Amino acid sequence: MYTLGIDIGSTTSKAVILKNGHEIMASSIVIATVGTDGVSRAIEDVLEQSSLEQKEVSCIVATGYGRQTYEGADYQVSELTCHALGVHHICPEARTVIDIGGQDAKVLSLSDQGRMVNFVMNDKCAAGTGRFLDVMANILKLDISQLEVEAAKAEKPASISSTCTVFAESEVISQLAAGTRIPDLVAGICQSVATRVASLARRVGIKEQVCMSGGVARNAGVRNAMAKELGVEIVYDPMAQLMGALGAALYAFDKVQQK
Ligand code: ADP
Repeated sequence: MYTLGIDIGSTTSKAVILKNGHEIMASSIVIATVGTDGVSRAIEDVLEQSSLEQKEVSCIVATGYGRQTYEGADYQVSELTCHALGVHHICPEARTVIDIGGQDAKVLSLSDQGRMVNFVMNDKCAAGTGRFLDVMANILKLDISQLEVEAAKAEKPASISSTCTVFAESEVISQLAAGTRIPDLVAGICQSVATRVASLARRVGIKEQVCMSGGVARNAGVRNAMAKELGVEIVYDPMAQLMGALGAALYAFDKVQQK
């Protein structure tokens, strides 16, 4: 039995096809979201990878910021629920989830059974989200995937004192003009995101294991800075950006089982 989870985020559309509630048949990340064909492209991609037709899928669950916009879903479920389900499936020992997406950051506290028992969220400010990193990568003319490569070469990480993205942008431009090396700037930028989100995480309380999800988790520069900032090991899985879509496919499986 096949289920499909789709996560329509602020920056990307993700899809996962699950077989019998545990085997990941296919996954896709498309950099396009609400108001574009991003979702349909992600769905077409996973169906093609798994040689399935949509009618063979028993249940479709949509999650994420734009979940209401996809009319083909059987259920719409909050991304908090889906990230908790996805992370618990991949990392059953996780008790804290730090999810940093394109436009917000959330920290979830999980019970031993993987249920969300508390959460805090920043969706008011671009600092401490993927948007901050996207803006900075753009100034430095780097691809987002190159940030971790540059951060790893840092010798003396720069200090980015502005907490506001707009001011931090001017600060980075001034530091560039003053000759600060790009690796040192990038390490400072990753540190700035980690510092912001770590203070959010402390509000919910840190219980190990701590797992990072969302697109920003792919950046080892942020993961390492977060580990230092919180003084814990950060558990990371390459599925990080797909945890919401995976959780949606797991939720869909549960729904079919209940029937
Ligand atoms: P949303 O669900 O809100 O659309 P995602 O969880 O997909 O957001 O995360 C998007 C963010 O992930 C981007 O803003 C970007 O900063 C970051 N990102 C995406 N791809 C990569 C990558 N290859 N390496 C590092 N960071 C990445």
